Amino acid sequence: MGFESARGRGSAEQAAQEVAAALQDNGHQAVFAGGCVRDRMLGLDAEDFDIATSATPEEVQAIFPKARGVGEFFGVMLIYNRGWPIQVATFRTEGPYSDHRRPDHVSAATIEEDAARRDFTMNGMYWDPVAEQLLDFHGGEGDLAEGVIRAIGDPAARLEEDHLRMLRCVRFAARFSFRIADETERAITAHRSGLEGISRERIGEEIRRMLLHDNRATAAKLLEQLGLAEAVLGKSVTGWAGTPHLEVLTGAMTRAHYATVLSAWAMDRGEEESPSELAMAWRERLMLSNDDRDGLVEVLEIAVQLQSDWADLGMAGQKRLASQEWFEASVLLLGVDQPELAQQVDQRVESLRPSGLAPPRLLGGMDLMEAGFPPGPSFSEILEAVYDAQLEGRIHSEAEALDLAKEIWQKTGSGN
Ligand code: ATP
Ligand code: MG
Repeated sequence: MGFESARGRGSAEQAAQEVAAALQDNGHQAVFAGGCVRDRMLGLDAEDFDIATSATPEEVQAIFPKARGVGEFFGVMLIYNRGWPIQVATFRTEGPYSDHRRPDHVSAATIEEDAARRDFTMNGMYWDPVAEQLLDFHGGEGDLAEGVIRAIGDPAARLEEDHLRMLRCVRFAARFSFRIADETERAITAHRSGLEGISRERIGEEIRRMLLHDNRATAAKLLEQLGLAEAVLGKSVTGWAGTPHLEVLTGAMTRAHYATVLSAWAMDRGEEESPSELAMAWRERLMLSNDDRDGLVEVLEIAVQLQSDWADLGMAGQKRLASQEWFEASVLLLGVDQPELAQQVDQRVESLRPSGLAPPRLLGGMDLMEAGFPPGPSFSEILEAVYDAQLEGRIHSEAEALDLAKEIWQKTGSGN
């Protein structure tokens, strides 16, 4: 661990360093703050280098004429240096949080006050890139070395102020494989129901970030153990049996699609509603996009279908199912509870693959019209029946397809 080892590597860091140096040259205090200090102390590449400064936004503007204020945040200016966006925030203190999510007011402050408003000790450190000095007012370095996440100040009061911090705590604990300090953990357990008052967007975003990380299973375990999953999803589980479905996505599917991850989480929680009911509820709770909701429904529905009637589907039905976008994810998750069935399905699909799971259709609506069929509602039925025959290898050419279409047409009496 140590900041020095990482210095001079990324040009984002260099760009931020130059900005801090310019502010210091003009007589202001200016240091790296928060997540980037933590990440660099851990030897990780920091995502963004945020600067905290004693300069007011006007003073920042005077030194960097192109700087502009960042929307809703108090005293945060955005500066581009070497093409890197760097946020420069004036040290601030926050007033009371009467709504438990946003401070009633914020005001300029000292660096010590700025540190005190931050959430966890490991997020409350500063690095002076000119003096090459760490500023650590709350024992962040020690906690980082021990792998502990600890609220700054009185945990109960800090979590009460902003309930979202409970989810941030879980996200960081999972991401770094850290443990949560006892008192901080007790405060979470005591305040968990407060999460219900937090905006769905912010909750959804935290859950998304923790579940898209490779340590998603750890995050889900913590959410369950701390009673936060119930607060987030509005439902407790009976007989929760761990996270085998989420674990199967580790490694092999590190970059799993969010819909797959959510499906795994639903399976781990033993959710019993129908896939569409569940997806409707989760969409609201987690502010899912339409794509994620649809994916979630499909992964779960395919799993249901595989369990109830895979063998009875016939070749065409199996090919149709196997060529669906979410099929593989579904089989992978099914394999956790029913490895034999999943293996049978995989083998069957491999044997079907050479003849084409979703070959281009031999016959389309235009072909039927050209052949003189009067357009009508029976068109799609005929076309699907012909495609089934194609998938089953009963027909191989357009001519055969057309003959079959005629046969079906006459048999079903559609011509009358
Ligand atoms: P990440 O790598 O996820 O971005 P981060 O620590 O940089 O982690 P940000 O959300 O970018 O997190 O916030 C930057 C810093 O602002 C944090 O390190 C922390 O000091 C402070 N902070 C952010 N959100 C809160 C909050 N809800 N309560 C208190 N301090 C916060
Ligand atoms: Mg950050």
